[in-house]
Amino acid sequence: MDGPILVINCGSSSIKFALVPETPDQPRLSGLAERLGGIDARLKGVDAEGNAYSLSLNGADHAEAMVAILEQLGDARPLAVGHRIVHGGEHFTQATRIDAAVLRAIEATGALAPLHNPANLVGVRATLELFPELPQVAVFDTAFHQSLPPRAYRYALPRYLYVQHGIRRYGFHGSSHAYVSGRVDALSYRSHGGWLIAHLGNGCSTCAVWQGRSLDTSMGLTPLEGLVMGTRSGDVDPGLHAHLARQLGWSLERIDTLLNKESGMLGLSGLSNDMRRLEQAAAEHHAGAELAIEVFCYRIAKSLAALSCALPRLDGIVFTGGIGENASAVRARVVAALPHFGLGLSALANADTVGGQEGRIDAGGIDTPELWVIPTDEEGQIAFETRQLLNETSV
Ligand code: ADP
Repeated sequence: MDGPILVINCGSSSIKFALVPETPDQPRLSGLAERLGGIDARLKGVDAEGNAYSLSLNGADHAEAMVAILEQLGDARPLAVGHRIVHGGEHFTQATRIDAAVLRAIEATGALAPLHNPANLVGVRATLELFPELPQVAVFDTAFHQSLPPRAYRYALPRYLYVQHGIRRYGFHGSSHAYVSGRVDALSYRSHGGWLIAHLGNGCSTCAVWQGRSLDTSMGLTPLEGLVMGTRSGDVDPGLHAHLARQLGWSLERIDTLLNKESGMLGLSGLSNDMRRLEQAAAEHHAGAELAIEVFCYRIAKSLAALSCALPRLDGIVFTGGIGENASAVRARVVAALPHFGLGLSALANADTVGGQEGRIDAGGIDTPELWVIPTDEEGQIAFETRQLLNETSV
């Protein structure tokens, strides 16, 4: 089927969009409506001629922002809309065409992602109203990890919490891990092998992929588990919550805010959640920034080493996300913290592979695991899965 796919990623006060053409040689329109509901609501993006624009949306809500996005698309009519939905629970194991029953099922999953799924659904409803005739597809962040075996997804908690309340590890960043693992399988001679992927952005997660299937990942019931992130703590002692409540009298809301918004590299450095800022400060010997980067890198290496247990064979490690694609010093530190993996980093290739470049950064040994940088493309993956579903169902 011909035509572009409109990809929508709707958050509580923002809508990211991209009009993804059928072939990569055509331009991709993309943009972001942000601060929705506030007087400073804006729509920023790049138009068909490649020019950047920024428009005031003047207090617009999600539905009004969708209308403004449509105007930016001009004459381009999408073939279908692909929506990023954060949590699909165990119900959704792949991209799914949206109808009334699917909407109800996504709503029912809302308890597992109270901050994300309701916001994603606002985008779905606004788009359904604007394009009642277009197929709409939900692509879930959790779906790629539904191939995890029980030993990876079960917590050591009483069984009824899993059976009756769905308490288990789900994993996130599925579109990114799916895209990157598919890409490295296409690029490497060791195709369909065992890969460890480090997605390092504001949110960070690792994933072990064997023959295209996720076997383990660092995020769990929520996107808080695992690595140190920009503002999220990642793993802490589960006893911390009770300790803070008993010793400091903190409420659950206070602890939740601490772990999600005030921790991670921001908390460790006391300076910033942004890796560029931290690298600058560390170069000027800011002790908090140096520690934040050191802990960040050590925890990535520790997570990769742990996830390697999921793989029958380790063919290589892939870095992606804003930090993974750009921060060559972070990549070098992670590799240095895994001496027993026998990795050989090419200092030159590592330094050169930045700014959205794709490539191998190892020294090229045939017996050692490969090292890759692959810029992620979550929107492209959502468009790909949407198109694939349409093609399957129209046969
Ligand atoms: P999100 O998870 O929101 O999509 P990104 O994948 O864009 O975030 O990653 C954002 C992170 O990438 C920030 O910490 C930012 O500082 C970092 N980053 C972006 N460019 C660079 C760079 N050139 N060097 C170091 N870090 C970078």
